[in-house]
Amino acid sequence: MGLHGTGRDDLNGPTRHALAQTHHALAQTRRGMLAGLAATVGGFSLPLALPTFNTDALAASAALPFHEIAEGLFVRYGLQEEMSAQNGATIANIGFIVGEISVAVIDTGTTTQQGTALRAAIARVTDKPFSHVIATHVHPDHCFGHGAFAAEIAAGEIANVGHHRLPQALAERGAFYLERIRALSPDFSDTRFIAPTDLMREVTTIDLGNRPLTLEAWPAAHTDSDLTVRDARTDTLWAADLLFAERLPILDGSLNG
Ligand SMILES: [Zn+2]
Repeated sequence: MGLHGTGRDDLNGPTRHALAQTHHALAQTRRGMLAGLAATVGGFSLPLALPTFNTDALAASAALPFHEIAEGLFVRYGLQEEMSAQNGATIANIGFIVGEISVAVIDTGTTTQQGTALRAAIARVTDKPFSHVIATHVHPDHCFGHGAFAAEIAAGEIANVGHHRLPQALAERGAFYLERIRALSPDFSDTRFIAPTDLMREVTTIDLGNRPLTLEAWPAAHTDSDLTVRDARTDTLWAADLLFAERLPILDGSLNG
C-alpha cells in the first residue's frame, strides 16, 4: 500500500501542482540567496560563504526567505546541499499555514535557530497564535527545530503532532541525529528534539479556523514515521520527503511499504 497503493492517484494532481511551485520558488530562492550572501565592500561584491566563523551558521539559518506558494501557505525551501555550519543546515522544506483562528507549523528545521527564524517569519505575516506544530518525519533536517516552540509545547498551549511511530523513531535515532547536528557548529548546541504527543494514525482532520488540514499517517515509505498534510482550501499537498523535486530521495523505510 502506501504510495504504491490506493492513495497514489489521490496524490498525483496536487502533488504535480506543488512540485511545479517548488521548481519555480527554488529558482527564486537561489536568486535570493545569491543576493543575500554577497557583501559589498568598497564597491566590490564579496561572497560571505568563504570564511568560517560561528555566526555564519546563525546567519544562514535565518537567511532563506519564506514564500507564500498558495494563499496563507508559506514554504522555506531548503538548499539542495548537505548539512553544514555554513548553510545553517537549512536543507529541508519547512513552513506554516495560516487559518482564520490559528497557525500550524509544518516541520521546524534542523536547529533551534531555524525554529526561531520560522517563528519570526510567522510573526511578519500574522499575529494569530500557533495551534499546532506538525512533524512530517524523524529526519534531523525536519523536526529538530522544535526547541523554538518548547515553551508553548510544555505549557500545553499547542498540539505537538506527529506520526504515531515518531516517538519510537526519535527514541531510537534522536540522540544520534542530535550528535550529528551539534557537531556541525557550537551554535547548534541548544538544539534538541521534542517527541510528539498528539499522535496521528491513518487520516485525521484538524482545523485552523475555516481552514481544515487533513493529516495522513503513512505506512513505511520514506521513513516509518511519514505524515502528509493536505490543505483543502488551496488543494495543496505537503508531502515533505515522500517526494523530492531535485534530490534523490533517501528511503530508509520500506519500498514495499
Ligand atoms: Zn527525510
